[in-house]
Amino acid sequence: MLSLSAGDGARRVPFDRPATVHSSTDGLTPDSEYPSKYSLKRFQESYSSLKSIRLCGVKRHRCNGALCARCSPKRQRRHRRELMAALAASKPVYALLWTATIASTPERPLGELWSDLDKLNAYMVSGSWLSSRVDGYVRSIEIERTPSGWHPHAHTLLVFRNKLSRTDAVKLAREIQARWLRSADLRGIAASAKGQRVQVVPMGQLSTVVDYITKSHMTTRSSRTPGTVTPAMLLGSAYRGDADALDLLTELERSSYRRRTWQPGGMLTRSSSS
Ligand SMILES: [Zn+2]
Repeated sequence: MLSLSAGDGARRVPFDRPATVHSSTDGLTPDSEYPSKYSLKRFQESYSSLKSIRLCGVKRHRCNGALCARCSPKRQRRHRRELMAALAASKPVYALLWTATIASTPERPLGELWSDLDKLNAYMVSGSWLSSRVDGYVRSIEIERTPSGWHPHAHTLLVFRNKLSRTDAVKLAREIQARWLRSADLRGIAASAKGQRVQVVPMGQLSTVVDYITKSHMTTRSSRTPGTVTPAMLLGSAYRGDADALDLLTELERSSYRRRTWQPGGMLTRSSSS
């Protein structure tokens, strides 16, 4: 089992950790409990299962990986900047935030769950189903580890050139949920109605929602949900010597290979995908 602070008897990762682990240049508040971006990167050079991350920084090469301690904060800042520019240019007057999940199953490999999520997301945009109902969207995939297993999920910001009435917004939310659940049912994928949520985003809070969907990178502190472990927390625990956390991180890295975690569409397409 994953423990966030490996105690006596826990499996340890052999790694020479420096006594002082904060850097004044990485944007983190100095905190003896939390390793710096530099320390995490150095750990990844030895322990990442992805060659791109191990070699990131060699000869000025940057991997731009979503799981790289060096590149992921910058990558998310770029996504935020490009999305804010696309929103400023396209001037939507109405927005919804759609969160889509599938059921977590303990012990089920992340790769299988992530493939299920990708299949359902692909179905939602197939035949222009989504783009005929919204003017633009951007989807962010997040992976978390919970007590009931891996929890890959999608946050999709939907934007509109014209205001939707409350009635039309409720109708669209129901259509989205029904299509998601029907598609899951047809494919034998477990998903529940209560795991799907569509919320109205007040236009004054658009920037906050953009922050929310670009929040996850490898040097963020911790999850606000008790029991939920983010990729950054797995990396921090592996760095502190927790071998179970390193196993989970390795599974996450291998499952993430060639996955798209950021996908703009419609009038937000100028926000590049990666
Ligand atoms: Zn990198």
